Amino acid sequence: MLGRNQGGGLRISPTIIVALVMAGFALCKYYGQSSVNEITGEKQHIAITPEQEIAMGLESAPQMAQEMGGLSRNQQASAIVKQVGQKVVQTSAAARTPYKYDFHLLADPQTINAFALPGGQVFITEGLLFRLTEDGKTLSEDMLAGVLGHEVGHVVARHSAERLAQMELAQGLTGAVTMATYDPSNPNTAYIAQSVANMLQLKYGRDQELQSDYLGVRFMLEAGYEPEYLIQVMEILKQSSGPNRTPEFQSTHPDPENRKEAIEAAIQEWRKK
Ligand SMILES: [Zn+2]
Repeated sequence: MLGRNQGGGLRISPTIIVALVMAGFALCKYYGQSSVNEITGEKQHIAITPEQEIAMGLESAPQMAQEMGGLSRNQQASAIVKQVGQKVVQTSAAARTPYKYDFHLLADPQTINAFALPGGQVFITEGLLFRLTEDGKTLSEDMLAGVLGHEVGHVVARHSAERLAQMELAQGLTGAVTMATYDPSNPNTAYIAQSVANMLQLKYGRDQELQSDYLGVRFMLEAGYEPEYLIQVMEILKQSSGPNRTPEFQSTHPDPENRKEAIEAAIQEWRKK
């Protein structure tokens, strides 16, 4: 696209100019929307308000539960999930956020998973809950607090909203790259641009997982739980990895072994505070 004209000067094709304008627009929009997260102290690029996050989460929660095999019929276990979850959010820094937290137990006994929707709707499967024991029988409240604290970390750090803004940026840049590199005789370049965008998103996911572990440790301590149990949760995840790998806790995220080290460092740091 950069060529020499007959006079020998550098000629920039109109496609490149349009692509640069597109990229510039996407970047300005992304970096223009910035706010400081009250709990993490971090500057974030987010386009939506907490109220919108809450509405999005509440709206998609029933459908999400349905897609994941429905809510558990075990009332006692469901009540424990709600109770431990509420203790984590009401007696920690998470209480200072505007989010509407609710904790749901999903019926699926096979899948080992937990996840959070933007705005505070948190889910855990029976498959994960019933593995959170030290002796194979009794549920460990501390481990449950660790899993839920990690999920609350995703909510407080506004990871879904962050990803939305990043996806929008990636799409804007992908559009620009596609435009700049488009070759009618070889249209495959669009796929290269798309995979660049995907790689960007994957990296953010890992950082966000580690940040949620860090916040999970903080919330556990503030709520009076033993954060060392989050390390035991990592052990359980490691042992149960295989064909039923957990989409949220494991597949695209850091190895439980690496997470353990980071969690240990976080425990030391927060115990000193
Ligand atoms: Zn996570």
